[in-house]
Amino acid sequence: MKKWRCSVCGYIHEGDEPPEKCPVCGADKSLFEEIIEEAPTEQQESSNSEEKMTPVSGISKDMGLGPEPKTLFGRIYQFKVQMMLKHHAHPVSVHIPNGVLPISFALMILSTLTGITSLATAAHINMVFVVLTLPFVLFSGYIEWQKRYKGLRSSRFITKIICALIVTVTSLLLVLWWVIDPGILQTSSLARIAYLFIGLIMLAAAVIAGLIGGKLVFKD
Ligand SMILES: [Zn+2]
Repeated sequence: MKKWRCSVCGYIHEGDEPPEKCPVCGADKSLFEEIIEEAPTEQQESSNSEEKMTPVSGISKDMGLGPEPKTLFGRIYQFKVQMMLKHHAHPVSVHIPNGVLPISFALMILSTLTGITSLATAAHINMVFVVLTLPFVLFSGYIEWQKRYKGLRSSRFITKIICALIVTVTSLLLVLWWVIDPGILQTSSLARIAYLFIGLIMLAAAVIAGLIGGKLVFKD
């Protein structure tokens, strides 16, 4: 049986033909390349054992960074991008908003149910942290998409980007609304329902973006 590697995300498919679409990143059949394995000699096998520990990926060695920039600023920027990719800045940093955001939403619901105002304050402070981390998370995600996944515009990546934008807009809205009306969760009005509904949309978008991200990282 032949082996095929997705040149975008590194997913390995076994079969006579590559799949119509990559089940991980949604890349087209034409983006698969056949893996031609040569029978390794005993010596090669032992020297390759360390290499086999690291998962195979479709990332080119230069990670699509291109030629070395001429200006100092360009070089600093390229170094920064390289470090972000090497240390997986996006999947690591995304855990801050993705971890804090459900807690914030849970505190909002608890505050509404119990009428305890300090729970609402805690929810809003958590929300501020989410908003503060988002610029870095979005930037690192954009770099990851452009460099590691070649800026592939499959429905999977488009969905992930739309979800990230929804999280950004809704979390900003929640913080701004709270600044304008700090007692929003204590009022028994339509405004409070609208506020919680925005929170629910934010949570759903974060879950979808996270699920797609998990699939891209773990490829299963
Ligand atoms: Zn793929």
